[in-house]
Amino acid sequence: MINYRRIIDLTLPLVPGEGGRPLEIERHRTEELTPHEPVDHPWYVMHRVQTISHIGTHIEAPYHCFENGRDLGSIPLERLIGEAVVLDLGELPLDSLIGASEMEAIAARAGGIRSGDIVLLRTGFADRRASPEYDHRPSLTADAMRFLVDRGVKLVGTDLSGLEGPQTPGHLDCHLVLLGHDIPFIENVANLDELSQPRVFVCALPIPVRGLDAFPVRIVAFE
Ligand SMILES: [Zn+2]
Repeated sequence: MINYRRIIDLTLPLVPGEGGRPLEIERHRTEELTPHEPVDHPWYVMHRVQTISHIGTHIEAPYHCFENGRDLGSIPLERLIGEAVVLDLGELPLDSLIGASEMEAIAARAGGIRSGDIVLLRTGFADRRASPEYDHRPSLTADAMRFLVDRGVKLVGTDLSGLEGPQTPGHLDCHLVLLGHDIPFIENVANLDELSQPRVFVCALPIPVRGLDAFPVRIVAFE
């Protein structure tokens, strides 16, 4: 039994036609999309949906970067539910490049990482996307990710649209370390500033689609 006071939605709402990435929903009568006898009711609709797998708050599976990696449909539930520690990257100077020792100090300030933790990285830069400051957001490195792997984390989330930042040497540096160790991660985690404690219980449940590399996910925290 989980004891909780409130549930915080850590998911960005998706609005078709907005947000820069394609999400089109096309409304039809149900019998237009399924082999259905026409039904005598004025409003009985279904939608055809067209989108890409990396949109909004989405989870990425190892298959995104590794041909033989686990796909979205085969991430075990145990990896997607559990205790999370919130690491604060918001107080760092602009243009920070975070290696293993920086990550260790950040983790210590949150009370440390326990084996089996979900890690949520809160930079506070997500709503500064339109401002010039955004180009100076924290950049994570492969070494910082290796530190998390060594601590036994099972899932990583960030409030940014990517783990790698402007100072990260390679475009896939963080992707390859986490996904190479079978650790999925979630981008565009929302509302992390609403969490009032450094440890919360988290559920992040994607639809288990076989053969898919990533997909929007509903992630919620219990305090
Ligand atoms: Zn992505």
